[in-house]
Amino acid sequence: MKIYLASGNLHKQKEMAELFPEYEIIIPSQEGIAFDPEETGSSFLENSLIKAKALWDIVKQPVLADDSGICVDILEGIPGIYSARYGGKQYPKGKPNGEKTPQQEQNKSLIEQTNEAIAMGKENPVYPNNKRSCRYVCAMTLYVGPDRFYVAQETMEGSLIDNLEQARGQGGFGYDPIVILQGTDKTIAQLSAEEKNAVSHRGKAAKALYHLVKNSLHI
Ligand code: IMP
Repeated sequence: MKIYLASGNLHKQKEMAELFPEYEIIIPSQEGIAFDPEETGSSFLENSLIKAKALWDIVKQPVLADDSGICVDILEGIPGIYSARYGGKQYPKGKPNGEKTPQQEQNKSLIEQTNEAIAMGKENPVYPNNKRSCRYVCAMTLYVGPDRFYVAQETMEGSLIDNLEQARGQGGFGYDPIVILQGTDKTIAQLSAEEKNAVSHRGKAAKALYHLVKNSLHI
């Protein structure tokens, strides 16, 4: 059975297919659906709902949507909901022309911006003893209809590496090679897909919604 995923991100599609193995996870482009809603919300939760509703309006079938990102504590949560668009210290919410910054550059800039905040003596308001703490956040929505939807928001705690030379791992995507999983010395990109799904923001949110998905799709 199909579930529509309100995303164009193939990495997310792959992770969701692993998390919902009984279902065929379809992204809009696979069915020729043009889908690029404006993410005008001010939180992960709002943006997740915006995406879910936008796709449901087109397909009129249950939709899963996620909005996710990485929040660096010493940077007061930057880049947060702007993680996909982050353009370094100058453009933390994305470049004015909408151009996407290559991931490698985003990784470099995030480490540099964090190191600069540390060098300036900024305090970490969340973990005072760890200046480099960060977390991934995922708000996942199961949207069954305008009057029936469920949202789970989850996190995965970690720390940024000190410099880009320490980046490592081939798995995952996005910021994974520069984030060390809390309590380990591995970056998220060094985890297998199963290991990541067991502890990730997206994995935990998906698990929270799993039975609701089964109930709403009657499978
Ligand atoms: P979204 O597609 O608007 O939800 O933006 C998500 C962005 O957050 C991605 O493009 C990545 O930059 C970042 N992100 C979210 N989840 C992950 C993850 O599991 N690994 C690495 N980067 C992530």
